[in-house]
Parts: sequence; C-alpha cells; structure tokens
Amino acid sequence: MDGAAKGRGAAGSADIGAQERVVAEQEWLQRWETGKIGFHKEQRHPLLQKYLDILLNGRSGLRIFFPLCGKAVEMKWLADMGHRVIGVEISEQALKEFFAEHSLPYREEPVPGTSGAKMLQSMSGNISLYCCSIYDLSSAIVGKFDGVWDRGALVAVNPCDRQRYASLMISLMEKSSSYLLVTVLYDPNKHKGPPFYVPESEIKSLYGNQCEIKCLQKVNDFSDRHREWGLDYFLEVLYILKFVP
Ligand code: SAH
Repeated sequence: MDGAAKGRGAAGSADIGAQERVVAEQEWLQRWETGKIGFHKEQRHPLLQKYLDILLNGRSGLRIFFPLCGKAVEMKWLADMGHRVIGVEISEQALKEFFAEHSLPYREEPVPGTSGAKMLQSMSGNISLYCCSIYDLSSAIVGKFDGVWDRGALVAVNPCDRQRYASLMISLMEKSSSYLLVTVLYDPNKHKGPPFYVPESEIKSLYGNQCEIKCLQKVNDFSDRHREWGLDYFLEVLYILKFVP
C-alpha cells in the first residue's frame, strides 16, 4: 500500500490503532546491553538549541526534568548553564555511561520509600538521575519542575500507558513551567515503533485540558535508519506546552 501521502494527511486517531505494541522494560534494558541505542545522539538536539530561550523564558537556576533520559548529552549542557537537571531512566547502564562519558564523578543514594530505586547524583549536586521507572516517581519524591525536555520520552511510552504518563507529567510541573515536547510523525502502518507515532490530536487529548499547546516547528529527520524501517518520510515535531492559568 502506498501509505506515504495518505499517512501524512490522515494524521488522526484512526492511525493509532496500528500501534498496539507493548515494549517491556526488559527489552529496553537489553537494548542498552547490546548497544542497540540508535535513538541516542552524540550532538545536542538542534531544536533544543534553537528554542532554549522559550524553555527558559528569561529565568535562571531552573529545575529541568528529562523524563526517560537515557544518556542525553543536553543534561550536561543545561547543568553547565547553572540549572539543576533531574532525569529518570530504567537502565542503570545508561546512567553510568552518562557520568563516565562526561567524566563526572557521582554518588549513589537509595530513594526512600521506593524499593529498588536509586539516585545517581553528580558530586557537584546539580545532576540527579533516578534509576527506576518513571511511574515510581511522584512530586513527593522529586518535587516539581520549571522546565521539561521531552525528547524520545512520550514517543517511547507504550501507547496504552500514555494517559498515565501525561497525568504524571502534569502533576510534576510547576504552574509557570514550560514543557518542550518532541514527537514524531511517520506512516504508522509501516513501522510498529518505538518511537511511536504521536499526532497532534493525541497531544491535545492528553494535555489539552491543562495546557496551552503550540506547535513550534516541524522538521524533516528522515535518515537511512528510517528507510531500513520501511518508511519513506519521518518528521520531528516540536511543541511548547504551558499551563493555562
Ligand atoms: N530521551 C533519551 C532516551 C530515549 S529512548 C534520548 O533522547 O536520547 C527511551 C529511554 O527510556 C530508554 O533509554 C529506555 O531505557 C527508557 N525507559 C523506557 N521505559 C521507561 C520507564 N518506564 N521509566 C524510565 N525509563 C524508561
């Protein structure tokens, strides 16, 4: 079936049904163990660099959250600017690689009340990465955030868990916070995810009751990797979410 133009044009809820795949935590851990981490980027994300001012909104010394953080290099970049960075990731390997690759000494601490979870914190104290499932967190544990960088996070969440994820994210945002969200668009009949396809209608249904949602930019991110998945287009879409007062 020629789904390219059709998939792009028909970016509505009907397409989501094609993506019922559920990725188990074990599968993510295995990806890290076997080095299948094509999602990881060595360079800072161009959209974060371009729209950083919108995230910061003139503020300094923010608490910025990286859900499903992997070893995202932007965490070090924002910490170096004087912000406090808080991440969560199920793979301990990913977090240890982050600290090792940036030559950052760190300490490990248990997370009170969350069995099996621990926090890896840079010795300087400005980067705190929780090693547990995001669903184990709450504002009682991590506090609330002034900014969120969600890249490879909502799109990595199993479609059946999206509502739970969005409710948790809303509960972790300060009223004045800015949430930059990167989603992906492609023909969901041709690739089962992750990353999962998340159309604008889905973002509105997840966050629209609480947040103002504005699309900032759509960029072509098509590469050989996506061609190998059987796709013929792949877009990244950046949104800014803000609480409606
Ligand atoms: N945001 C990162 C990583 C994206 S890939 C980046 O941009 O590079 C998604 C990551 O989420 C993987 O590293 C995976 O191990 C992690 N992950 C998957 N489910 C999770 C969960 N429930 N809680 C925390 N991390 C999770």
